[in-house]
Amino acid sequence: GLEFKHHRYAALQKALRDTAAMCPNITRLYDIGYSVRGRALTVIEFSNNPGVHEPGEPEFRYVANIHGNEPRGRELMIHFTRYMCERYLAGDKRITKLIDNTRIHILSALNPDGYEVAAGPGSPEHENSVWSGRLNAMGIDLNRNFPDLNAQAYYNEKHGGDNHNFPIPAHFWYFNQVAPETKAMIKWSQDLPIVLSGHFHDGELLVNYPYQVSSLSNVLHHSRTPDDGMFRYLAQTYAVAHRTMTSPYTRPCRYKDFASQGGIANGASWFSVAGGLSDFLYLHTNSLDLAMELGCSKFPAEKDLEKEWHNNKESLIKFMEQIHIGIKGFVRDENCKPIEGAVIHVEGIDHDVTTARDGDYWKLVLPGYYTVTASAGSFTT
Ligand SMILES: [Zn+2]
Repeated sequence: GLEFKHHRYAALQKALRDTAAMCPNITRLYDIGYSVRGRALTVIEFSNNPGVHEPGEPEFRYVANIHGNEPRGRELMIHFTRYMCERYLAGDKRITKLIDNTRIHILSALNPDGYEVAAGPGSPEHENSVWSGRLNAMGIDLNRNFPDLNAQAYYNEKHGGDNHNFPIPAHFWYFNQVAPETKAMIKWSQDLPIVLSGHFHDGELLVNYPYQVSSLSNVLHHSRTPDDGMFRYLAQTYAVAHRTMTSPYTRPCRYKDFASQGGIANGASWFSVAGGLSDFLYLHTNSLDLAMELGCSKFPAEKDLEKEWHNNKESLIKFMEQIHIGIKGFVRDENCKPIEGAVIHVEGIDHDVTTARDGDYWKLVLPGYYTVTASAGSFTT
């Protein structure tokens, strides 16, 4: 079995290869790109049909270790992927149902170079500070490096205009130093019809949901997306299933007692993060992304890793299962040909989604009655 220890780069890659070899029928390894120092950004995919988007089947994603000095998510993903493989082989109904009906992508480390700097003194790249390794090898904070589309979204909310799938402005590429890890993440996000995703941090204990950039300049306040109710529900799903996130016995990490607020917070009400991953994904793609903050310390002791796995295991599964609530369907023309890029509007929620290549779409909404319209060019249904 897998040990509960910190996995340096070579050990991480080996753990992923071993899991893929144990479950060749339901996994696939692929790289989305390379870090500055040439380390592969390796994804393990789970599906009953790996490598293929099955029409109508939603795609899910977890991304960990975006800050190199925050490794809980990285270790969780190593154990979680092995767990899914083992439970599938054992015929576990819940895991089998998930893998048969969802295409799941897991990236254990977006910032593998930073990790080696933060990892123990055995690493030649090691630097001895809790902040060392947060940034990538170019000194870029990856969770501040994504296109900031919030200003455009807030402008359109007031003055009208599109409310979804905002393009990346050309000046983003000219005026910013964009890390290769960021570029890989952007391209990957554009290539797949991800519906729901989560990414992991350390340093606090809560689930943080968009918007993460305040809609008022210089004022921290709850900045609601049009999907605020859904985001809150998703955040609560993770937090409540976590063993300590909402417990009255959990001591606050710092001055704010998030556990007493249900273990969740709107990002912009806490601190404003321009260029973060969650807001970018919400505004540029069809996916909902939340940021899970997994613990007070940055780099937990090895002896605590097993406890962290048990703290998060149920949350990781339950959060993923939420991809199957809400509205889904297909848009086709009168000859039954799929229409890609049709706009799906759910009445009352001013954040549309678009159809994927097979004309399939998903809109995560809370239970209720909804009027859905699809429009593409001259068609409206
Ligand atoms: Zn972080």
